[in-house]
Amino acid sequence: SLVLGIETSCDDTGCAVVNGAGDLLGESLFSQNVRHLRYGGINPTIAHELHRDNIGKAVEEALEKAAIKISNIDAIAVTVKPGLHNSLEVGVRYAKHLSRLHNKTIIPIHHMEAHALVARMYYNIPFPFLALLVSGGNSLLAAVRDVDDFLLLGDTLDNAPGEVMDKVARRMKLRDLPEYSQTAGGRAIELAAKNANKPDMFEFPLPLVKLRDCSFSFSGLKDYVERKLKEKEIEHKIIGDGIIPEINNLCAGFLHGVAEHIAHRTERAALFCEFKKIITSSKNIVVSGGVACNDYIFESIKVIGDKRGYKVYRPPPRVCTDNGIMIAWNGLEKLKKQPNVNILNDVQVDAYAKLGKDIRNEVKD
Ligand code: ATP
Ligand code: FE
Repeated sequence: SLVLGIETSCDDTGCAVVNGAGDLLGESLFSQNVRHLRYGGINPTIAHELHRDNIGKAVEEALEKAAIKISNIDAIAVTVKPGLHNSLEVGVRYAKHLSRLHNKTIIPIHHMEAHALVARMYYNIPFPFLALLVSGGNSLLAAVRDVDDFLLLGDTLDNAPGEVMDKVARRMKLRDLPEYSQTAGGRAIELAAKNANKPDMFEFPLPLVKLRDCSFSFSGLKDYVERKLKEKEIEHKIIGDGIIPEINNLCAGFLHGVAEHIAHRTERAALFCEFKKIITSSKNIVVSGGVACNDYIFESIKVIGDKRGYKVYRPPPRVCTDNGIMIAWNGLEKLKKQPNVNILNDVQVDAYAKLGKDIRNEVKD
């Protein structure tokens, strides 16, 4: 079978055609990053307008690259939740329009489920597995028991890691350095950290060490960066545009703190899943979402995996950030499970949807 995937939940308009064997036939991605850099974040009004401008082109380009006519598509998968309401609406309206015009089934997709499941397009990972999803808007751990059976183990009590890394990068003025001027905040921090000559100079306190669940918290790490930056700026008499000389070491300390925290919570989730017999024989962890592109964070999860006997997988970095491929793939997984499903009528946008069955309270002990 052939599925067209449409993703518009945030600031990227992504489309792709994927077949039942998991081959990517054609893809298009209209990224709004550069436009948003000037605002220091995502502007929902602009995101909405750009999706509207790009959605037609994006679908056309994906089909063209795949050399597939829309009449030969079996279904249209579209992100319906969670995300920015108006952005989601652009994708869903367009999917409905195509569906009416060409008489195609629509498969509604949960954006975070798609981030997790797309790993199965590249690797043979059986259910159940543990998913760590870290991105610009989310930080969560889930046990994935089936295509449509997610158990939410924990999420963030404050900010998402990508959001915090973007804010910290901006506060550090990393984009004023030419080598990072066009780079995502999290990636700029990763690159700067690699240049550290004394990576242990700043030791960040590990968040939530005493809390025995799978929650995340990144605001403490962000505040600690702010405190150290202020101290060093005063010490070096920097006002306005200057960058502290210890910047690479500070990035290294911060990144280490973020990675340690994420690894620590993931280990807790693994222990819980084993204790509750949610995960038994084959032990696998999938790491996905934009922050999963970070090799330092990924390697920290691998250390936990080795310690606990888990294989750790991530989709190719390009597929960790938002894209249409994961939406098309999720559509195919749903089609395989329920070949005759026709869900045309209950396609609704839900901007604030949670992920799966919420068992966060059971995780506490
Ligand atoms: P969500 O999936 O929660 O809706 P989103 O769709 O905005 O969020 P993604 O596109 O999955 O997020 O990821 C974007 C985030 O990934 C940005 O915050 C960016 O800084 C971060 N990111 C990208 N590359 C890296 C990297 N190498 N290290 C750390 N963070 C990174
Ligand atoms: Fe995303």
